[in-house]
Amino acid sequence: MTRSSVQSVEYAVVGGGAVGAATAWNLARRGAEVVLLEADELASGASGGPGRRGVRAGGRDLRELPLARRALELWPELDSELGAPTGYRRNGLLSVYDVEVAGLSGWQSLPARAQAQQAAGIPCAVVDRERLDEMQPGLAGDIRCALFTPDDGTADHPATTRAFAKAAGERGARVLEHTAVTAFEPRPDGSVVLRLAEGDELRATRGVVIAANRATPRLLADSFDVRLPLWEKATQVTFVAPPPGFSLEHQIGHTRRSLSVKLTDEGQVMLSGGRPGGWDPETGVGTPDPEVLRASLADAAATIPALAGAEVLAVDTSRADTSTIDLIPVIDTVPGLATVFVGTGWSGHGFALTPAVGEALATWALDGERPAALRPFTFERLGAGSRK
Ligand SMILES: Cc1cc2nc3c(=O)[nH]c(=O)nc-3n(C[C@H](O)[C@H](O)[C@H](O)COP(=O)(O)OP(=O)(O)OC[C@H]3O[C@@H](n4cnc5c(N)ncnc54)[C@H](O)[C@@H]3O)c2cc1C
Repeated sequence: MTRSSVQSVEYAVVGGGAVGAATAWNLARRGAEVVLLEADELASGASGGPGRRGVRAGGRDLRELPLARRALELWPELDSELGAPTGYRRNGLLSVYDVEVAGLSGWQSLPARAQAQQAAGIPCAVVDRERLDEMQPGLAGDIRCALFTPDDGTADHPATTRAFAKAAGERGARVLEHTAVTAFEPRPDGSVVLRLAEGDELRATRGVVIAANRATPRLLADSFDVRLPLWEKATQVTFVAPPPGFSLEHQIGHTRRSLSVKLTDEGQVMLSGGRPGGWDPETGVGTPDPEVLRASLADAAATIPALAGAEVLAVDTSRADTSTIDLIPVIDTVPGLATVFVGTGWSGHGFALTPAVGEALATWALDGERPAALRPFTFERLGAGSRK
């Protein structure tokens, strides 16, 4: 189906990352007529790039836990539901705590976090040093304990995105790559006209879901005069060669250091955790930062001493996510427009939530009621609540 043959549809989803593709699939599987529009190729934004993404509930902001719990229910069945591989693996997350005594990442906070996660339906257990040595030998001596979240894991983010889009297509959605939306014009009857590059237009009669991530603030400002205060962050990711005999049963996160350690499908050790590399928001081009590389390697060696001196295979800063001031997303309708939905501001941890976010956004768009799990993620809390 070509772009010019599409003139009217019930729902338009803008952005072929994991969020847009998951939402399109959920709308389509519930029988809605859907077009998914992607400016470039599927997974060309934050949902692409090398390595694996963490699929975790452990360590999240408590307001995200209902969504995270639902996502963890959905992930194990996704491959068969979508009929395509997501690369999902459930191998558990060990969040380690060291000697730091103050703050939310201090070991004293561990029982409180465990209690809150368990109350939200996220299984987890406090692990003392003796047990930790059995679960993951070779951790640094200053680590005293950990929180183990057994249902956490990792997945292949571009594969998952493509799997959502493929499944959406099989449910009748039209997936249009290389089709950028340049503007939105809301109409009094709740429909929205989308202006496409090259002069085409598309009318969405029942709603629009804007999942264009880093392009979202510009689209909202230009079309709706809404200022959404997000910024772009390209988490720098480092891949090192595993030292001889190295094994990793679980993902390792450090609650005080900016460190997350995973194994890739190729057996490389992936180091991430949130430190930003260089990023130009105008060009969308990232540049590895040597200081960040040094800090990441130092954090890795301070947590797993066997990684000291590991050979660096690659450093990647090719993808940026959007962040909010309180590090939880915006999943809401544009102020004053009940049929224009937005999901963005994932603050570096949106991928894991996508099965639940797609389901919840589709439910809201189809049934007209905001699902309870989405209540915290408003425009209003960021001071972006009123149209100027
Ligand atoms: C390095 C890195 C590591 C991360 N690690 C994790 C992790 O371990 N766990 C986790 O849960 N999350 C992680 N994240 C975050 C996660 O990847 C993102 O939150 C998630 O992928 C966002 O998905 P999205 O679909 O909203 O956005 P994107 O994937 O950015 O998709 C937006 C899409 O919209 C398209 N688009 C833009 N403008 C337009 C337009 N005008 N018209 C049509 N299409 C348009 C873009 O081309 C793009 O494909 C990480 C992010 C990065 C960058």
